[in-house]
Parts: sequence; structure tokens; C-alpha cells
Amino acid sequence: MKEFQKSQKLYNKGLENLVGAVNSPVRAFASVGGNPLFIKKGKGSRIIDVDGNKYVDLVLSYGPMILGHRHKKVQKSINKALKNGYSFGASTENEIKLAKIICDTFPGMDKVRFVNSGTEAVLSSIRLARAYTGKSKIIKFSGCYHGHQDSLLVAAGSGLATLSLPGSKGVPEDAVKNTLIAEYNDLESVKKHFENHDDIAGVIIEPVAGNMGVVIPQNKFLEELKTFLQSKGALLIADEVMTGFRSKFGGAQELLGVEADITCLGKVIGGGFPVGAYGARNEIMQMVAPLGEMYQAGTLSGNPIAMAGGISTLTELKKQDPYILFDRVGERIENILLDAAKKHNVDITVNRFGSMLNPFFTKVKVTNFKEAQTSDTKKFAVFFWEMIKNGVFLPPSQFEAWFLSSALTEEDIRVIENAVDRAMEKVAESK
Ligand SMILES: *Cc1c(COP(=O)(O)O)cnc(C)c1O
Repeated sequence: MKEFQKSQKLYNKGLENLVGAVNSPVRAFASVGGNPLFIKKGKGSRIIDVDGNKYVDLVLSYGPMILGHRHKKVQKSINKALKNGYSFGASTENEIKLAKIICDTFPGMDKVRFVNSGTEAVLSSIRLARAYTGKSKIIKFSGCYHGHQDSLLVAAGSGLATLSLPGSKGVPEDAVKNTLIAEYNDLESVKKHFENHDDIAGVIIEPVAGNMGVVIPQNKFLEELKTFLQSKGALLIADEVMTGFRSKFGGAQELLGVEADITCLGKVIGGGFPVGAYGARNEIMQMVAPLGEMYQAGTLSGNPIAMAGGISTLTELKKQDPYILFDRVGERIENILLDAAKKHNVDITVNRFGSMLNPFFTKVKVTNFKEAQTSDTKKFAVFFWEMIKNGVFLPPSQFEAWFLSSALTEEDIRVIENAVDRAMEKVAESK
């Protein structure tokens, strides 16, 4: 049986000077009960908490640690960068190198601008869409999360859904008056907004949603969305902060064959360091200062250590090309979940896209936020804790994706299989 005394102690201490002892609410165990664990270190596919408990890590910092923790090549490149200094407020060669890897990978990106987080990438991309089209309204889909900037913090999936909040306090109505909400996988809900408004700059979407749990575009949803937007002169903004270099090297866009007008990146491109990026074809990026009149800046943007983390992570990813492996391992874990659910007579739906997956405790097929919310979160809480006790670290929310790293071993999969079997048994008993 695992003990969590040291985590508990740190949690109590953390409450004094940190809000809820966490620096991001998704790390709190609000919807699963109990207190958050404190992690001491990680290596490869595993992490260890401060009490010495080992876990197979399916959180991976919510995606960035795609090679596993402390990959040798990444660590070497970080160490080398550290020797030269941490930040200059002037350009460095590595910014050009990482930009080239990204632009060579995404055909819709001639130029890229680095920022410090996914949130920043998205808010800049929205500004850019408005600057380029001269229009002000943006459509987002309910259940999609695009960072915590005011104008998109409505119907924003995971964090808010976990805390059962429709939106956030402190966001004035004025800030969201140009935000329109559509339903994922429902083109008609997008078309309706265009019938009622003539000043729509664009549509922002997670091309595969991961922030309401994994939800996959059905049929030709993305292609049809793109074609429709083109006919209206509105931009398609792909928020690939989660899926970029994860679904495939070229992100969900490569896999789904749809090219966005503006692409947002983050997570994997920093290899665990704070980085975001947005990019588009020249004609659009021309708007951004110093070339154009859309202002956007950052003291630490293109930070040398983060660039080194990104370059080494993407270079190693390209070399490993783990995407077929991800698909196979993902399918095995999907089957492990389905088999255990069947054995213990628990209703689940598993959604998976490459190396992102999660089960929903529901009978219905999950293709949008409403369907995701039919999941029994009490059952998830039981499942979550039993997984923790059996050595698998999951996001503490029904509405987050699980992530795979290329460091997963056969032994890890056995740990997962055993944990899932026990966790499903507990869920069955909890009825
Ligand atoms: C994580 C995420 C963001 C926000 O990125 P931060 O680095 O947390 O600010 C935005 N969009 C998507 C799709 C994400 O998954």
C-alpha cells in the first residue's frame, strides 16, 4: 500500500503561500478527492513522488515530455546552452534553428514567432486574425481549451469542467462579447453564426480536442469547416499546442490533411521548458511587428534554454519517429481498458488519437462536450485513485487526455494492465 505522508505535509505547507498549494488548478485533486502529490523526480517513462512511490507517468507535464523525462540528448543540449548564458534580450542562432524545424514541418507556416506559453501563442494568434481580416468576432467550440486569456475563457473544457465552472469570474462581459460558441463536430452550428454576423475574423479549434477528454473530428468535419471558412473569407486557426509534434510530427494537420491559416504550438516544442509559438504564411505574418502594425512582444521570448530544449526534443523525435509505435501502444492500452471494463461489467467509451487517449465512464459515443459530460466523474475518481495506488500517474480529471511517451517499456504496459484491471474492479464495486 502506498503512503503519501510527505506529500501531505508539503501540501499543508504549500497552502500557506501558494493558492491551493498548486500553480495551476488542473494539478489540484478537486474532482477526485484527496490532496495533490508532490513529485521529486522523473527518468524515462517513470516519476517518483516525495514519499518514494514510483509511477508510470501518463501525464508527462500534460504532453511536453514526449520523449520521457530527462532524455540524454535533451539534457546534454540544455547543459550546453546553460554554459553560454540564460537570456540576452537579443537574438540567438538557436531561435533560427527551431523556427526552421517548425516551418519545414508545417506547410502552412512560412514564419513563426516564439512566445512563452500556449496561452500567449493563442492570444497572439487571435490578435493576428483580427489584424489580418479587419474583423473582430472569433468562433470557438465548447469544450475546447485555448489557454486562460479572457476572451476565450468561456465553455473552455477541462479545468473549468473539472471545477464545474461555466466560465471564470473576473472576465468582463465586454471581453467575451466578440466570442461566439459553436458545437464540436457540428458545422451547422458554425454556419448559423455566419448567418447572424458579418464580422467574423476566424474560427479557432483544437483539430483533435484533448481538453474535454479526447474528442476526435468525425467524418470530414475539419475539411468541410476549412472549405466553408474559405468561402467566407474567414481564417482557420488550428490550436495545436497539444497535438503539434504529438499526433504526428506535423501535428493533427498532417494526419488529417487539413492546412490551417494560423497555427499555434506549445508543449512539445519546448521539451519541458516554457515555450509557445504561432505562425502562418508570409502574407499573414507580415502583419506582425516589426514587419507590420500588429504589436506583440516578450522579454524572455525565444529564451536560449527553451530553444535548446525544443531543438533537441524535435530532432530526437524526428529521428525516433515513434508515431507508429504510439499508435500500437495506444491501441494496446485502449484494448486493456475495454477488456477490463467488459470483465468487470463497467460501461466505458475509449477515445484515442495516436498517443492521446482516455476512457469516459459512459455508454454514449463521445463526439462533443455534451457527450463527454455524460461521463460519471465519481467513477473516474474511484478509478483514478486505484490507478495511483497501483503505480500509474494519470491527470486528476475526467476531462484531460492521457499521454504516451516514447520511453514506455513492456514492463510499463504490464504495470498499466494490472492497475487498470484493479481499478475497473473497484469501479464495479462502487456502483
Ligand atoms: C495547454 C494548452 C493551451 C495553453 O497552453 P499553456 O502553455 O498552458 O498556456 C492552449 N491550447 C491547448 C490546445 C492546450 O492544450
